[in-house]
Amino acid sequence: MTKMYYQNEINESVLTGKKIAIIGYGSQGHAHAQNLKESGFDVVVGIRPGKSFDAAKEDGLDVKSVAEAAAEADIIQILLPDERQKAVYEAEIAPNLQPGNALMFAHGFNINFGQIVPPADVDVFLVAPKGPGHLVRRTYVQGAGVPALFAIYQDATGEARDLALAYGKGIGAARAGMLETTFKEETETDLFGEQVVLCGGTTQLVKYGFETLVEAGYQPELAYFETLHELKLIVDLMYEGGMETMRYSVSDTAEWGDYVSGPRIIDESVKARMKDVLTDIQNGTFAKDWIEENETNRPRYTKYKQEGADHQIEQVGRKLREMMPFINEGKKKVVIK
Ligand code: NDP
Ligand code: MG
Ligand code: MG
Repeated sequence: MTKMYYQNEINESVLTGKKIAIIGYGSQGHAHAQNLKESGFDVVVGIRPGKSFDAAKEDGLDVKSVAEAAAEADIIQILLPDERQKAVYEAEIAPNLQPGNALMFAHGFNINFGQIVPPADVDVFLVAPKGPGHLVRRTYVQGAGVPALFAIYQDATGEARDLALAYGKGIGAARAGMLETTFKEETETDLFGEQVVLCGGTTQLVKYGFETLVEAGYQPELAYFETLHELKLIVDLMYEGGMETMRYSVSDTAEWGDYVSGPRIIDESVKARMKDVLTDIQNGTFAKDWIEENETNRPRYTKYKQEGADHQIEQVGRKLREMMPFINEGKKKVVIK
């Protein structure tokens, strides 16, 4: 079995006296910066002037420009959108890297696909939480954590591995467990998961389920509850105890329908196309297309985003959620941006 690393086997003193720059203050950035600070580490946030800059100040952090933060830090964690990292790295981070510094990521995209090429005299590693940034923060505050992967790409100082583990402990990930991987494995599996199951597969499944019911004449509000709202409740059960617990909790009729109809919907042909998507990730086709989409100002991304927002399931959902303010109540108790 793969070795997991937990709290008590990690010595965080390797980070003592080191300054950590968190570059970007978005989903992951705000969580890493606040969690590390509350874990007792020396944190500076590097960010351009604007909304995030103001938010980081309001949250009581030491906030500087990207270049200044990179210059004064020993460890530089880049938590900018993947497609912006190369430009910011080249203009503001690379000129401020000192031999023996550590360059960090939360996803291997830019290293794995050759977008960022760091000098040989710095450590390069990643600590990638397996969950959204807002949960990295929320679970930390609750005394829990989101598990994380870590990987070493370059170990110039001989300390890279210890630093990665200590960083993971600092953001709360070691409470849930840390697992060692490579940049290649992290990048490819992360892209596969989000495209095939977590985001792409799930939204498409929900959308078609909703459309099938509405086109058959059923009420859209009912279709929303059936295909989107209830999905969370089912997934919570899977999260708690696997498919077994979910199947224990639903009726035997639902469980029988799961066995006989599930494979009619998601059949072997779907698995064959999953393999095609994986191939496009592995051979760089997906990365090349996404890099080009950004270079041409995101015409398709913008169109898909608008189509998604205009879909009937979103219009119906917005109205229904207004009547269920308790859905977001838990969030207000912790600092969520
Ligand atoms: P976000 O999109 O949430 O981060 C946006 C931040 O980057 C904002 O603070 C924004 O500032 C800043 N920013 C954008 N462009 C620039 C620029 N040109 N110069 C300076 N600052 C800029 O990113 P995520 O947190 O989603 O992703 C960060 C990394 O973490 C990525 O590598 C991602 O793959 C990885 N990751 C993300 C997860 C997630 O939960 N989202 C999960 C696991 C890994 P402003 O307000 O000024 O626009
Ligand atoms: Mg992911
Ligand atoms: Mg991802």
